[in-house]
Amino acid sequence: MSKEVKPLFLPLKGLYFDLFSDGRKTYELRRLRGGWNLSQVYVGRDVVLSYGYGKKYRKEAMILAVKSANSIGELISKHSWLWRQINPLADSPEAMISSAIDLMGDGPVIAFEPSFDTLSPAECPRCNHPITCWDGLDIGSRFDCPYCSAPLKAVGDHFIAPGVQWPVFHTAH
Ligand SMILES: [Zn+2]
Repeated sequence: MSKEVKPLFLPLKGLYFDLFSDGRKTYELRRLRGGWNLSQVYVGRDVVLSYGYGKKYRKEAMILAVKSANSIGELISKHSWLWRQINPLADSPEAMISSAIDLMGDGPVIAFEPSFDTLSPAECPRCNHPITCWDGLDIGSRFDCPYCSAPLKAVGDHFIAPGVQWPVFHTAH
């Protein structure tokens, strides 16, 4: 009988949960220590993303890719595209590296890609509730999700059928 492996629990600051949820952030970076090691974090393992430690907003995912290196700088020099996937709000690889070092200190790191169902159009990225009240909303307009109060921004239209377009929402971070 095989022992069932529990999903890896990944608590995230609200900002980073939201960036994962709307598809802008695709990789998580952790120092390679404690439970964050290559025998716990591996391709195919289920992972649960959590908005903080609460139970309200969670997303089930599966690890699609794992990368490790002896330092944050080494990781980014090996995978030059990765900085933006880890921190889409950083202006440059150097800015991403220095803010990560400030946050976690430098040393061996592990980065992994949790893959989950992509966001549907007209859906709140944080709570996944369909949003129907977008009439008259222009691209770039900001408003709060009526269901979870996430700050949202309409970022574009998604083609549904001829003549029918639904907006795509990102969180307004
Ligand atoms: Zn919401």
